[in-house]
Amino acid sequence: MRVKIVAGNWKMNNDLKASKLLAKKIAKSIKNLPLTNTRVIIAPTFVNLERVAKKVKKTAVEVAAQNMHFEKSGAFTGEISASMLKAIGVNTVILGHSERREYFLETDDLLVKKVNTALQNNMEVIFCFGEKLEDRKSGAHFNVVENQIKNALFHLDSEAWKNIVLAYEPVWAIGTGETASPEQAQEMHAFIRQLVAEKYTASLSESVSILYGGSVKPANAKEIFSKKDVDGGLIGGASLNENDFKAIIEAI
Ligand code: PEP
Repeated sequence: MRVKIVAGNWKMNNDLKASKLLAKKIAKSIKNLPLTNTRVIIAPTFVNLERVAKKVKKTAVEVAAQNMHFEKSGAFTGEISASMLKAIGVNTVILGHSERREYFLETDDLLVKKVNTALQNNMEVIFCFGEKLEDRKSGAHFNVVENQIKNALFHLDSEAWKNIVLAYEPVWAIGTGETASPEQAQEMHAFIRQLVAEKYTASLSESVSILYGGSVKPANAKEIFSKKDVDGGLIGGASLNENDFKAIIEAI
């Protein structure tokens, strides 16, 4: 059975005090939930990662980084390496988020390097991709998604896919209040699974968790998560509120 995941991307929100408090509240609120086969991940900012990781260490909550550099070390002002993350107990990293692509000009070529470095360091990658509004309007969304996945991930061998989680995030639905309909999400997730099956094997593609991201809220989570190829969500805004985040986890 595929692992279900609800991951909260806190982006550039919450100072240390607020981060620790929110992490504590989330851990407490899900303590008695039956989380069989379901993982809960939160991704605070770099500067608060270590303290949050310590706070949730003995709980069901895991932590992830929002980004990472591909080099081991060196003159890369402002950047963070895989080994630095691992040293503070962080084993998962979100890569390819649309905000990184859009505001920090991250390209498929750069993402290949980041993915490779993360995997070489035995880290798990939550790999984000998704089409822009104009792509969907012009009907290019399947092509765009196919290229993003092929360009960044299809050089990997089957073994490496054990550490890959896919996150389909249509850019037009991120932080906009606009959500892909459950049918649109399912259609794209099924397409992605088919792509992976064609490149690798059906059993590999059946084992990959594919998350949906884009304005998931307590009100729409259940319907989206009920779709066969949707294995959870990457949550932005709603992950900043413990009650909303809990309700989304309950929906799964
Ligand atoms: C995201 O940034 O990954 C995201 C899905 O944000 P939101 O839930 O706020 O749309």
